[in-house]
Amino acid sequence: MNAVRTCVGCRQTGLRAELIRVIFSQGKLAFDQEKILPGRGSWLHPKLSCFALAVDRGSFARSFRARMNLENLATLKEQAEKMLDK
Ligand SMILES: [Zn+2]
Repeated sequence: MNAVRTCVGCRQTGLRAELIRVIFSQGKLAFDQEKILPGRGSWLHPKLSCFALAVDRGSFARSFRARMNLENLATLKEQAEKMLDK
């Protein structure tokens, strides 16, 4: 499956297999590492810079049409710093 997705950070496209999935569920964003969780997903390059861009541009809020919880974003950022390339 080589479907193409658009990164919510840099807006460039990438292969689904190479991007990471972020879902919004019960009012919170979370990384969906196995890409199997139900719900609406957004896609990101596995790079901290793309994550930061998505946060700065309000891309998650736009893509999920929801208000982001700052505490949740901070937790996600901590995970991103461990998980993603700089
Ligand atoms: Zn990107």
